[in-house]
Amino acid sequence: MAETFDHGGGIRSVRVPIPDNPLGHTLVYVVDTDRGPVLIDTGWDDPGAWSVLAEGLRACGTDVSGIHGVVITHHHPDHHGLSGKVREASGAWIAMHAADTAIVRRTRETRADRWFTYMAAKLTAAGAPEEHIAPLRDPAPRAGLPGFSPALPDREIVPGELLDLPGRRLRAIWTPGHTPGHVCLHLEEEHPSRLPGHGRLFSGDHLLPEITPHIGLYEDPDDATVTDPLGDYLDSLERVGRLAPAEVLPAHQHVFTDGPSRVRELLAHHEERLAGLLGLLAAPLTPWQLAERMEWNRPWEQIPYGSRNIAVSEAEAHLRRLVKLGRAEAVPGSDPVTYVAVDRA
Ligand SMILES: [Zn+2]
Ligand SMILES: [Zn+2]
Repeated sequence: MAETFDHGGGIRSVRVPIPDNPLGHTLVYVVDTDRGPVLIDTGWDDPGAWSVLAEGLRACGTDVSGIHGVVITHHHPDHHGLSGKVREASGAWIAMHAADTAIVRRTRETRADRWFTYMAAKLTAAGAPEEHIAPLRDPAPRAGLPGFSPALPDREIVPGELLDLPGRRLRAIWTPGHTPGHVCLHLEEEHPSRLPGHGRLFSGDHLLPEITPHIGLYEDPDDATVTDPLGDYLDSLERVGRLAPAEVLPAHQHVFTDGPSRVRELLAHHEERLAGLLGLLAAPLTPWQLAERMEWNRPWEQIPYGSRNIAVSEAEAHLRRLVKLGRAEAVPGSDPVTYVAVDRA
């Protein structure tokens, strides 16, 4: 049974389940336009999710075959997973920021073994123990894994521009951090219940009411550029805070008001977390050792294999930020490289 919600002003949402995931659901938004309904995100590529989306769209008075276009906040499979199926059923266009489209193209073209070789080298450099790296050298065949053949978008979302949605004013706000091409979409129309503030913001995974999105490195086997995703994320948070939307419509959890105070909470949270990490870095640590000592939602021993890789990537993103701020540095000659807080006394 599909759960749908009418947000007013020609905006509805469908709660599309994510199988075996504590996040539970992706909120797929249905935006009425003069050319037909447009979706913001589509949900996880799974038969159960697909039938909930189809049923939900019927409950919203439309049909999968009637979708005019698909706007994707970022390339992750819980957002972009069903885009290909929607396009097949309807002929809809799919729009995404160029930086995330580049990841989609690479995912489609990169063979799994190349990816595992890259991950093994990366984890070795981060100081992971041999027993963690060994399975990557002899991976089981995973040709059928979801997310390995995502749909190639056919339109580009250009930062700062209005999307081509007849009858609506929806502006793309580039918010890199969670992914390099994450976008929020600002609906520059008065709130249907006249809540104070400027329009409504579809925030994807960038701004969520009760959780902080994962910020790791922008993993790219073909690009050695030293990026600073956490720095990008914090800048992007300030950008959406300044929009002062009357209401935030995120891709998970629930709709909320007062986006600027949620932004302030998250900025304070990250400042606190960085300060805490500096305390841990009183003695030199590899990224792996730092990840082991960081606070997660459960003890390190209970964190499953794949989530440990994500945790190490998050530790590395924090180290990048601290190095960039001049608050930590790599220990010369260490291998694997260790990092230590800079004593500014
Ligand atoms: Zn995401
Ligand atoms: Zn998500």
